[in-house]
Amino acid sequence: MDERIVKLLAEKGLDALLVSGAANMRYLAGFTGEGYVVFTKRGQYVLTDSRYTVAAEEEAPGFQVIEVHKPYPEELSVLFAEDEKVGFEGEKMLYADFEGIRDGISQICLSPIAGELDVLRQVKEQWEIDRIAKAEEIGDKAFDAVLGFLKPGLTELEVAAFLEYQMKCFGAEDLSFNTIAAAGLNSAKPHAVPGAYRLQEGDFLTMDYGALYQGYHSDMTRTVVIGKASEEQKKIYHIVLEAQLAGVDALRAGLRGSDVDKVSRDIIANAGYGANFGHGLGHCVGLEIHESPRLSPKDETVLLPNMVITVEPGIYIKGFGGVRIEDTLVVKEGGSLNLAHSPKKLIEI
Ligand code: ZN
Ligand code: ZN
Repeated sequence: MDERIVKLLAEKGLDALLVSGAANMRYLAGFTGEGYVVFTKRGQYVLTDSRYTVAAEEEAPGFQVIEVHKPYPEELSVLFAEDEKVGFEGEKMLYADFEGIRDGISQICLSPIAGELDVLRQVKEQWEIDRIAKAEEIGDKAFDAVLGFLKPGLTELEVAAFLEYQMKCFGAEDLSFNTIAAAGLNSAKPHAVPGAYRLQEGDFLTMDYGALYQGYHSDMTRTVVIGKASEEQKKIYHIVLEAQLAGVDALRAGLRGSDVDKVSRDIIANAGYGANFGHGLGHCVGLEIHESPRLSPKDETVLLPNMVITVEPGIYIKGFGGVRIEDTLVVKEGGSLNLAHSPKKLIEI
């Protein structure tokens, strides 16, 4: 069994572990389908239905693959001994699945664990960083392509579709998340959903998107102006850019997430827009798009070398528009390595 799992079981006083989160199943066993990865003192198993059994045998060679049948995996019951304490991911398992297992396997004690498995994924191996870097490269290529495509009259949906098409042409297996292409007043919504709105001269256009590459995500945001930027737009853009550059410059191992957040947040607050920056400065990226730790006023986690994290300040003004600029970086001793290479100077289309 994975040494880290042995240690976790000992620390939590558990006899076995039932893993159901997709990212953790993939990380710990290599399994990419639906089901459970189970660690006991007697063996390690992948439980899945017939759709994924062949894939599981290929993906998880050190694990015994057991085919299960719904509604609850009865096959689990033979894996656990009487009175064993079985940890499960309380934040990932559906309540209905929990009920099925609890009521179906009465001889065990189910005990929720919180984010302990996610913590194992915080510091990335070099091969993981390489995959994220490749995903970022795909995002950079899509940005380069979209600059030649943008023009007044396009809908936000057309802009999003173009970015998505380009990412897949450049090798993305999927999208990191639903693409954000928000123009005009919609750019004041940090997580706007693209719609039928057509780009007009004088609009901000915020594009936040990412590629999935061999299971790993990229995440980048750029904001451009359609036509000529007004003085007010230039002012807002440059405050966000200054805050983003300062956050990137500050990012290094040994600082807490809250320390880096404060560097960027203070710049925006001192410029008078503190109330217009409501979200955290950044989040880690890996097998999931949003991972811990975060760069936020509340996150006291000390950053470690080879965590991969975003720096993404923004200013959002209702009735005017918004700007966000986001890179994804590898935390290093004494600094960071930026995986995003798209230009950040104000681009007027
Ligand atoms: Zn993003
Ligand atoms: Zn992000």
